[in-house]
Amino acid sequence: MPLSKAAAAIPLVPVGLDRAAHHRRDAAWLDAAFASDKVQILLMREGSPLVEGSAPAAPPARIGAAPGPMRPLLWLGAQAGMLSPKATRLFLGENDKGSPIFALDLPASFSLDASPIAGLGVFQDFRAAAGGLSPFEGGAAATARALFEWHHAHGFCANCGEQTSIEEAGWKRKCVDCGREHFPRTDPVAIMLAVRGDKCLLGRQAAWPKGFWSCLAGFVEPGETLEQAAAREVLEESGVRCSGQADYLFCQPWPFPSSLMVGLILEADGEEITVDTSELETARWFTREETAAMMAGTHPEAYAPPRFAIAHHVIKAWLDRG
Ligand SMILES: [Zn+2]
Repeated sequence: MPLSKAAAAIPLVPVGLDRAAHHRRDAAWLDAAFASDKVQILLMREGSPLVEGSAPAAPPARIGAAPGPMRPLLWLGAQAGMLSPKATRLFLGENDKGSPIFALDLPASFSLDASPIAGLGVFQDFRAAAGGLSPFEGGAAATARALFEWHHAHGFCANCGEQTSIEEAGWKRKCVDCGREHFPRTDPVAIMLAVRGDKCLLGRQAAWPKGFWSCLAGFVEPGETLEQAAAREVLEESGVRCSGQADYLFCQPWPFPSSLMVGLILEADGEEITVDTSELETARWFTREETAAMMAGTHPEAYAPPRFAIAHHVIKAWLDRG
């Protein structure tokens, strides 16, 4: 299904990547595609993608600081297959020109400096890199990171404890002993803005930089809907009950390691706040005017999440409602 304009504008949402899942079980097709002159291969090592440049870019000075210059992924051709025999290969799909897109997870021991591609790129911390990637690259890199993190954590069967092996081009693992199949997981997180009239509820955690406020959020638990999870988390963290309408907005894959951030706006029943200090340092209501100033960077002491985070887009969606 096509993405709405607002959904496609969110970083890490895959744009222009056809997963072409019908190829995943076709080993001969995959080998030929991986060796073809059209192939594009992204490299990752310990969750960090390979980007163009000769030295890692400095991370933003603080949350909300302007991102650095765009640093595209360093895409390699078929020769990437010769870099490391220990690399895990993942078929991501095809781009809009029909070129096969793969990702390789290089072992921690892989030395860029000692490789044939020394000097062409650097492994960049994912969060620092992601702000500078194109929508296609961000989506591809986020998909690869989530899959590779899952592979790292699922080498053994949860059913019998024996080793598992990679199947279906990186989209499945199977136990070599009992045969149980294991599939990559996605953990939904509700991230929501409770609103009441002209105000919205934001919170902050003690560990966050001074002045930084964001939406409340929490994992969806087994046996509840997204909307119920959102209302429960707001109640638990802030004491604010939301029994009215909960509107789903859009979502964002968040590969740290396997979350899907689901943005919602909820109508709150009242404004009295009782903070659960084990979760939040504090929470408060901000007027529409204050919130707009935070987003614009003109508020004297408070600022909102950067464009990279879905919370930014949830707040923007509420402001745009006018
Ligand atoms: Zn097993």
